[in-house]
Amino acid sequence: MTETLTDRRARLLGPNMSTFYDEPVHLVRGLGTKLWDAEGREYLDCYNNVPHVGHCHPRVVEAICAQAGTLNTHTRYLHEGILDYVEALTATVGAPFDSALMTCTGSEANDVALRMAQALTGKTGVIATDHTYHGNTTAVHQLSRTNPPPGGYATNVAFVPAPDSYRPLGGVAGMPHAHAFAAKVQEQIDALETTAHGFSTLILCPFFANEGFPDLPHGWLDPTVEVVRRAGGVIIADEVQPGFGRLGTDFWGFRKIGFTPDIITIGKPMANGHPVAAVIAPHDTMYAFRSAFRYFNTFAGNPVSCAAAMATLKVVQEEGLMENARVVGDYARAGLLDLAGRHHCIGDVRGSGLFFGAEMVMDPATKTPATAFTKRVANGMRQRGVLLNFLGIHYNVLKMRPPMVFSRQDADRMLDALDDVLRATPLEA
Ligand code: PMP
Repeated sequence: MTETLTDRRARLLGPNMSTFYDEPVHLVRGLGTKLWDAEGREYLDCYNNVPHVGHCHPRVVEAICAQAGTLNTHTRYLHEGILDYVEALTATVGAPFDSALMTCTGSEANDVALRMAQALTGKTGVIATDHTYHGNTTAVHQLSRTNPPPGGYATNVAFVPAPDSYRPLGGVAGMPHAHAFAAKVQEQIDALETTAHGFSTLILCPFFANEGFPDLPHGWLDPTVEVVRRAGGVIIADEVQPGFGRLGTDFWGFRKIGFTPDIITIGKPMANGHPVAAVIAPHDTMYAFRSAFRYFNTFAGNPVSCAAAMATLKVVQEEGLMENARVVGDYARAGLLDLAGRHHCIGDVRGSGLFFGAEMVMDPATKTPATAFTKRVANGMRQRGVLLNFLGIHYNVLKMRPPMVFSRQDADRMLDALDDVLRATPLEA
């Protein structure tokens, strides 16, 4: 019997690289928001933020090919590519962010950011939410409450309850919830300050993407920022998911919620699939890091990576993709709200720009999470040729975060498929 691709994958890669869906998709080609499998079947991509400006965008492909055909090296030489890119990148962020340190992955960027925070504060205590993910290095894996490290957590990490606007801490959404969250951060700061670690940094995604992207008003983080600053700590904004215009209204997630972090980390969508990431920080922070730690990264910011990142940034800016995210995202959310009127399993519709979804419940009155059902819905969508996934504190939030060229027609196709799946899937635990 011939070995299936799934079996071959398991044999050669081991069990550590899981796939999506009960029946994994075997993709061979992509263009814009569409993907095709080995049998030639077309899928609508409602999930992939890595091909930020669309699968195989010609300007990015051309930039990669041209630079790969000219020069690629490690990063110990002078080259304008990295400088032009960091100039263009920091211009989107604004003061005091005038420099960047390149890495290859978001995990590496967060790992460096933790050390930068240590260099700034002289302390090592880290606070994160209890349903987040910041990457896979030994240090940042400590922050994954959903995936505990063997032997337990290090004593320098502490957790606060992940924000949930649908079931807010303290019972009242909005600013009362914000103050309740800040009080939890204060408790953990106080606890860390009684240890030898002290409190160094609060790391968070300003959109709380992995937590299920709660609906939080502008200013929601202000009480927390005040608590952190008063304690002499710094804030790392992990922009790996909300950055680069995805939220439609603001280029960066921290701007949307309305605060200025001390250190920013970016990755995933930065170069449309080419592995590039970075830490953005003020000049002084770069020097503080350098005086405490040495750092070298063979691949990060090489000429090809920077050409890919520059082309991606230019496409976002020159093809009006943030505006597209706002307009199409509003349209898609309105469609989801319309579906919620017909399907009572949709308890909440949330998101911003092209980062949106719906929380699925057994009954809107009790808000009991429909976790197993949500997984069946994601599989049902896959069977109907629409790729999305689910996450959140109870793993019952359908998550859509498509390439930024997603159109109204794409949204209609997704909404029609979802309507059909929700009709066909019994609401059972
Ligand atoms: N931060 C966040 C918020 C993420 O969601 C991820 C990846 N899902 C990472 C960091 C890690 O990025 P990478 O996989 O590039 O290491």
